[in-house]
Amino acid sequence: MDNARLVKALQAAKEEAEGANRAKSDFISLVSHELKVPITAIKGYADLIGRVGQVSESQANFLKTIVVNVEHMTRLISDLSDISRIEGGRLQLDYTAISLPEVVEEVTFSAGKQVQEKEQELQVHVPADLPRLWCDRTRLTQILTNLVSNASKYTPPGGQITVEARRYQPSRDDHQGVDFIQVSVQDTGIGISPEDQQRIFDEFFRSGDRPARQTPGTGLGLSITKKLVELQGGSIWFESEYRKGSAFHFTMPLAPGGQRQLPL
Ligand code: ADP
Repeated sequence: MDNARLVKALQAAKEEAEGANRAKSDFISLVSHELKVPITAIKGYADLIGRVGQVSESQANFLKTIVVNVEHMTRLISDLSDISRIEGGRLQLDYTAISLPEVVEEVTFSAGKQVQEKEQELQVHVPADLPRLWCDRTRLTQILTNLVSNASKYTPPGGQITVEARRYQPSRDDHQGVDFIQVSVQDTGIGISPEDQQRIFDEFFRSGDRPARQTPGTGLGLSITKKLVELQGGSIWFESEYRKGSAFHFTMPLAPGGQRQLPL
């Protein structure tokens, strides 16, 4: 095949692949939208049954199972719709100057029940006078919620979770005139095996490691988290020691003028 024909064939294949990808995104977006309505109704009525009359202990257990599964499906649908929006370039980010300590407080408060149930200790080391970040508040909350929730899920009862933030010190070549805050979520959990470490940011990846398997999940949290961090100009990485624990770190840019705020 001469060069011109080869380029034309490659162009056609690329367009076909892009078309298939768009069709996949549109399909996911339609399905997730259509599933939201019946799922909301199931959850609403399951909640109501317990309130309109007396239910026996076994009926209460059945209702609890319905609610837990509906919550799992809701999480899956919202993850799928996030993926399709991100991949289709349709995710709208609303950038404002955000106080990280406020977001960390909200996230750790919401995670409180999950952490207490496992009798884990959650420590926060985030200076109150951190300069503000430039990002989307809802999406920053989602990133942190995913990391703190994973830290708790993949840490046995009695373990420790730490959330820390500090000024990120980029290497000289890395520094492109933007300053960042580095946020870290550390745990003393099951850790990630060297093979799994290559794949944890892949869509739908779930470890085959027995203690990880025992925890329900969709395998979408970290892939979405990575995309959300990168879309907002940050980066994410982790260190993990098998059966000792893991630490996930991500960076977020400071708000304009943030560099001139309080030195760290
Ligand atoms: P999910 O938790 O729904 O399975 P994620 O994308 O959040 O999906 O995580 C992918 C996999 O990475 C998990 O199934 C688990 O095996 C591993 N993982 C994530 N966070 C941790 C952690 N803090 N400690 C150990 N393993 C983790």
